[in-house]
Amino acid sequence: MKEYSYIINGVQKTSDKLIDVTNPANNESIGSYYVSTIEDVEEAVINAKKSQVKWARLSQEERDQYISKITEVLTTNKTYLAELITKEQGKPLSGPGSNFEMDACIGWTQVPTSLQLEDGLIFEDDTRKDILKRVPIGVVAAITPWNWPLMIAIWQIIPSLKMGNTVVIKPSEYTTIASLEMFRLINTVLPAGVLNCVTGDGKIGGHLTSHKLVGKIMFTGSIATGKRIIEASTNNMARLTLECGGNDAGIVLPKTDFDQIAEGLFWGSFLNMGQTCAALKRLYVHENDLESAVNALINITKNFKMGNGLNEENSLGPIQNKMQFDKVNELIETAKNNPNAKLFIPELNVPSEGYFIPITYITGVDNGDPIVDEEQFGPVLPIITYKTVEEAIEKANALEVGLGASVWGSDSNQLEEIVLQLEAGTVWINQHGAIHPFVPFGGVKQSGYGVEFGIEGLKAVTLPKIVSYKK
Ligand code: NAD
Repeated sequence: MKEYSYIINGVQKTSDKLIDVTNPANNESIGSYYVSTIEDVEEAVINAKKSQVKWARLSQEERDQYISKITEVLTTNKTYLAELITKEQGKPLSGPGSNFEMDACIGWTQVPTSLQLEDGLIFEDDTRKDILKRVPIGVVAAITPWNWPLMIAIWQIIPSLKMGNTVVIKPSEYTTIASLEMFRLINTVLPAGVLNCVTGDGKIGGHLTSHKLVGKIMFTGSIATGKRIIEASTNNMARLTLECGGNDAGIVLPKTDFDQIAEGLFWGSFLNMGQTCAALKRLYVHENDLESAVNALINITKNFKMGNGLNEENSLGPIQNKMQFDKVNELIETAKNNPNAKLFIPELNVPSEGYFIPITYITGVDNGDPIVDEEQFGPVLPIITYKTVEEAIEKANALEVGLGASVWGSDSNQLEEIVLQLEAGTVWINQHGAIHPFVPFGGVKQSGYGVEFGIEGLKAVTLPKIVSYKK
């Protein structure tokens, strides 16, 4: 079995600790990776700091040329990396799976070049003239989760490099192999020390994020870890972009045709088996529409096959790891404690080995039930009834998170009215989860700090620097 190493200053490194990785669809070993030491974190950050000076001195055009080379290397190796994602993370090759993730990686390397940062003259009078320049922050510590491991790494790496920063990235301990392979390939087209990576769990992540030479932390993961990162940043006062969890609500207007919207609701909820930060996790429907909602969703579910994602027939894969598998199953069991709960599980020939959980719709539950209130991050959709739209809005806003939300129906005035009232970073209309490299994305409340993508995302990896002239 292959052993995968991490990279510091362009050099592949090993340690005396190896972790074996298995495929969540069948528990077969796919290889092992070396775990970094605390000394490695130190070496990686010091090298990133040294390399940053030279990297920042390159012109924007020169850095953009390097980024074009990253686009090329990802395009050439798309199939190889997509298969590795499927074997390690579980999402299938087909459907919105690992090929889709690789397309997104490639797409997000094409960060807008036409967008101008707002720099230049900001003040002038008889006595002075002030210019604002956007400058790199320095070393970016990047931390990724296991659900979209390569795409999220690209979200953190590309804007950081483009704006003149260097990066030390720590992938999730659950999806390290595919990440290391992508970082190795990217390193073949970059100067040494510009993109460094270290491996390991939260202990290594903690050392990295609290390092004195780190100027910016880009983190995507759970709210609990996001709070630890805030604490870590008291050590270095690093600027933060935190993309944390969500529990997105969708509100369907009364009398909406569910057959028309069922596929959008399905993939909005079950993209990557619901293991998506901005997946639709709670659906609010009018009490008179419950039956048509359930029927439409059951019908659409029967169009898809579940199983090992290397088989192109399957577009629904396993849960990524045992911890998450147990958590989702426990939440489903707990939901049954509500005497009104009713489970609908369309027949999908769910494999008996591997971490598979069938697509499950639950009615009869409400806000207050753990399956509704907690970020269950699995293939489960609670369908909650409302009597009035006001009640649905109140319930949608009742939780401490606000990443995304969606409204569905055909009365555009009413949809716009609801959009104004929903507490979320993005509100989608008649779709859920659609994102784009030019469109800012981020959460409100405990779903995070700051935004990624577009002009706002580029600004977030720079600092304003004022040059002030005496006249
Ligand atoms: P997690 O918080 O357990 O781990 C995320 C990363 O943080 C891992 O690399 C982990 O090793 C690292 N880590 C753990 N403790 C740390 C510490 N003290 N210091 C530094 N790093 C530490 O999250 P997860 O289970 O891997 O991912 C699932 C979560 O990610 C969900 O809550 C999901 O909603 C969220 N997520 C959010 C977005 C978004 O854009 N808002 C996107 C994807 C996933």
